[in-house]
Amino acid sequence: MMDTPSMDHGVACAPVLQGLWEHVRNGQEEILLSPYLPALCAFLTHVLFCAPFFVLDALGSVCQQVRSWRIAAGSGSPPSILRWFYCFWRVLFKYLTIVLPATALLQTLRSPSLPALAPSCWQLFVEVCACFLLFDMLFFIWHFSMHRVPWLYRNIHQLHHQHQTPFALASQDASSAELLSLLLLALSSAWVVGCHPLSEVLFHLLNSWMAVEDHCGYNLPWALHRLLPFLGGAPFHQAHHSLYNRNYAPYFTHWDHLFGTYYG
Ligand SMILES: [Zn+2]
Ligand SMILES: [Zn+2]
Repeated sequence: MMDTPSMDHGVACAPVLQGLWEHVRNGQEEILLSPYLPALCAFLTHVLFCAPFFVLDALGSVCQQVRSWRIAAGSGSPPSILRWFYCFWRVLFKYLTIVLPATALLQTLRSPSLPALAPSCWQLFVEVCACFLLFDMLFFIWHFSMHRVPWLYRNIHQLHHQHQTPFALASQDASSAELLSLLLLALSSAWVVGCHPLSEVLFHLLNSWMAVEDHCGYNLPWALHRLLPFLGGAPFHQAHHSLYNRNYAPYFTHWDHLFGTYYG
């Protein structure tokens, strides 16, 4: 169902964003509001974002420069193509059996709408930042609890820790319950912030990219955490996978600093 033009999402719409929003929205409402679209997009973007790291892992066996970027230098070669392959099928299976039906049900209950106005650039920026800050906090609390409550760790989180040296695709290699809980945290963050759909899409895309980067196993010279020092990046999250009781936050480092669980 379409919204009539409203002032809900700001009047000062940047012309570029408005043009983009109208281009995306016009005539494609049925596709955009399909309850299956979120899971489909989440899986496809995850695979797409992992593709460059698949190439890096493949190049690692022949290129010393690529190997020098690996965080776990000296602790073994990059993951084999077979490991990628098995991980891909595990993630696909969970998406088809759990994530797709669950998100379809959620989208049907949410009955989202497409406002006529795009957000302003400032609104887009503020909403995406707010989503990340909120998601980071909720993730920290949930992740910390999963490590502190043995039942939660064994039944929900342990599967993700099968990768002591993670690789890009492993960011979604978790139990169905964990995948669902993280999805719920991301959706609730956007809901609490009251995001415009365009801001929400951008948040989900960036969230997917940053989760992949966290697990990629490379400390690349152009990685986001080198540009933005308040982000932990792959070295920060890889330390979590090897030490277990450090670096619980997914992206920012302030919660771990505050709770004394930061490992640099
Ligand atoms: Zn992880
Ligand atoms: Zn963990």
